[in-house]
Amino acid sequence: MNATMNATTHDTTHDTVNDPCTVKLVVLDMAGTTVADGGLVERAFSAAAERLGVVPGSADHAVKLDYVRATMGESKISVFRHLFGDEAEAQRANAAFEEAYGSLVDAGHIAPVPGAREAIEHLRSDGRRVVLTTGFARVTQDAILDALGWQGLVELTLCPADAGGRGRPYPDTVLAALLRTGAADGVREIAVAGDTSYDMLSGVRSGASVVAGVLTGAHDRGQLLAHGATHVLASVAELPDLLAGEGR
Ligand SMILES: [Mg+2]
Repeated sequence: MNATMNATTHDTTHDTVNDPCTVKLVVLDMAGTTVADGGLVERAFSAAAERLGVVPGSADHAVKLDYVRATMGESKISVFRHLFGDEAEAQRANAAFEEAYGSLVDAGHIAPVPGAREAIEHLRSDGRRVVLTTGFARVTQDAILDALGWQGLVELTLCPADAGGRGRPYPDTVLAALLRTGAADGVREIAVAGDTSYDMLSGVRSGASVVAGVLTGAHDRGQLLAHGATHVLASVAELPDLLAGEGR
């Protein structure tokens, strides 16, 4: 009798912050996680850098490209502020980057990560709410969503400017997803998935209970784990089963 009552009580409450809980809100990165862009970020960066006089093949170009690779997932304007210092130069670089990336998207150089759309639909049919996030500007995010026919696939998409402008590695977009949707009772009911160190940091800093790294994008297993991944998946396609296993 007592055992039954205890079991019932335990199933419906979460006494401590460390208790496992059902994930109600899933925050998914786009490029490298749900969207395969085949290195478009680097190509668009090179186009932007050239516009600002950084010669391809030069040492300066190599140093800057290394920084772009290391900070993949960060708000792109933040990356350009670091690389070019001066705000006007950074804005010029960012505009050139967005223009180049948008042209590549329009030319058909992106595709869904295999199984990503199905994974999103699966998550939603399991009763979870899904938000797509990016480090790109809104115009680029919309160009990607249009190219894939993904406008309307989820209830909300967020870019850094939608969440105060800081983007990753800060937790702001994840927290904005919670605030905008009201989809979870607290941050422990959030799962974050992404392909970069900064996705993992933003997830950890948000307090999400699941911070899943995926191996379809920029960073490898070691980098993802070093920045706080709770799980590493071959692809976002594995996320619905992971959460179904975590859910109680
Ligand atoms: Mg990414």
